[in-house]
Amino acid sequence: MAGGTVSLPQLIDWLSRFSGLVNENRTYLTELDSAIGDADHGANMARGMTAVMEKIGATPVAAVDELFKSVGMTLVTSVGGASGPLYGTFFLRFGTAAGAVTGLDAATLAASLRGGLDGVVARGKAEVGDKTMLDALAPALDAFDAEVASGADVAAAASAAASAAVIGRDATEPLVARKGRASYLGERSAGHLDPGAASTAYLFQALDEALA
Ligand code: ADP
Ligand code: MG
Repeated sequence: MAGGTVSLPQLIDWLSRFSGLVNENRTYLTELDSAIGDADHGANMARGMTAVMEKIGATPVAAVDELFKSVGMTLVTSVGGASGPLYGTFFLRFGTAAGAVTGLDAATLAASLRGGLDGVVARGKAEVGDKTMLDALAPALDAFDAEVASGADVAAAASAAASAAVIGRDATEPLVARKGRASYLGERSAGHLDPGAASTAYLFQALDEALA
């Protein structure tokens, strides 16, 4: 079937898998942040996504916008540090773009992800190449859009996005950070992966797994 539809339970599965991945890789994410930041990215993401899954479990929702409003608000309020407001804004704007629907097709999922990216840019003012989560997010969405434009279904689009996010994450290693805490290090930030780009690669790994 062209396009395919992503249901509310599948979107919750995406969040659940993302929570699982950041919890399993919490130490790794914190190690990345200890090299160029303040060694809390793993703890921030694990705490935030654990709070999200508790909130979702306790408060059933009927529509996609409601789900992601709850996710975004929980991240903004439970995570200190840049990543809480940034991921929170991503999910809030994802929900706003999705609207009061019970499922997303390939095109509306693409538009919702794009809404999330626009929110991250509006909030953090970073550009691609600044060595942030955007360096994984932007190529992932470009790959997703390209697959959708060529008629691929959501599973193929998510798979392409996950691969592009990993490439984008790895490409942050030589970069000098221009945004966030890592930018305080100047040239010394080069030679390390960006922690937020690494967690964003898990976000798309989780989407790929949930839609496979
Ligand atoms: P903090 O930097 O406050 O300790 P985290 O360690 O949880 O927060 O998150 C750091 C990550 O946040 C960075 O690796 C980077 O990917 C992302 N980040 C920081 N500032 C920005 C920004 N202005 N725009 C986009 N992403 C950013
Ligand atoms: Mg940090």
